Amino acid sequence: MSTNTDLKSLIDRLEQTRSLSREEWIRLIRGRTPELAEYLFQRARIIRTRHYGRDIYIRGLIEFTSYCRNDCYYCGLRKSNKAAARYRLSREDILACCETGYRLGFRTFVLQGGEDGWYTDDLLEDIITSIHRRWPDCAITLSVGEKSYASYRRFARAGADRYLLRHETFNETHYRKLHPPRMSAAHRRQCLVDLKKLGYQTGTGFMVGSPYQTPENLADDMLFLKEFNPQMVGIGPFIPHHETPFAGKPAGTLELTLFMLALIRLMLPRVLLPSTTALGTIAPDGRERGILAGANVVMPNLSPPQVREKYLLYDNKICTGDEAAESLNSLGARMEAIGYRLVTARGDSLNTF
Ligand code: SAM
Repeated sequence: MSTNTDLKSLIDRLEQTRSLSREEWIRLIRGRTPELAEYLFQRARIIRTRHYGRDIYIRGLIEFTSYCRNDCYYCGLRKSNKAAARYRLSREDILACCETGYRLGFRTFVLQGGEDGWYTDDLLEDIITSIHRRWPDCAITLSVGEKSYASYRRFARAGADRYLLRHETFNETHYRKLHPPRMSAAHRRQCLVDLKKLGYQTGTGFMVGSPYQTPENLADDMLFLKEFNPQMVGIGPFIPHHETPFAGKPAGTLELTLFMLALIRLMLPRVLLPSTTALGTIAPDGRERGILAGANVVMPNLSPPQVREKYLLYDNKICTGDEAAESLNSLGARMEAIGYRLVTARGDSLNTF
């Protein structure tokens, strides 16, 4: 059994060398205690402040389609969920969201959606070009799933700068427990390699506490993040959705998510690390706690208010409070209360290629 002192020295070594072995990751994750977590969060805050000061970057999240061709067992947007309310935003709707967002101070727009063939490459290219022309000082982030190299290249040429595609879990056996047979961990990772090759600032990540996840799986996720060296890492707790095969599974915990966030900050000091909506959903102060564990990005919702409750990845997803883009002042006040400030900036990653 590892003692707190052993594990503390592992944390110190992680901070110094920015890596651990698989066995050490497992030991640290398994052996975590509240006392160890406090020590870790303190180190993570110091490192985050060293590189990013007390600034928190904001991203305007535009959830533009709730249609999806995939059938991931955990996700409320899965195609087999016949009860899901579906919607699509038009090119004009999306531009109107950006207009509002720009006025509010957003300098990054994140276009996220299910894998929806209604948006052809031509249409997506047109949308990206229009945003890029109209707001050349803004970064455009895409999060539209697995596409071909040729499609990713078209989007990059049209002006997309960044791409978010969580690897979800590194381990193929675990991946297969979360997804139907036509999807694979290897293909998802190939997409990530393609994105990086094309020069995207690339974000990946995983759900914490997804069904069947073990500390070994998390250790593999950490080793993968180290090797891939992404510019952004999005992690958040798994939260069940009542119309999915995982309806009865327990949610991931705030405690483990915060611990993983802080470990990622120590391993990849310059990475951009969002304090996610899912974290804000499982605890009222979840997003503040994420910032205090080393995160430095928040992604308020810029989608038109009437569609927000339809983009339901999981139950009770927050969509009308301080995570709404219109409530930026109140989110800002909450961040100031813990010693941080929201900034109007593109907020590019310092974790370069
Ligand atoms: N279709 C795109 C993709 O596959 O990357 C973007 C949208 S997808 C809904 C965005 C992320 O939501 C996924 O990468 C997944 O990790 C997360 N997600 C889906 N269902 C979730 C759930 N039940 N709990 C927590 N996160 C979930």
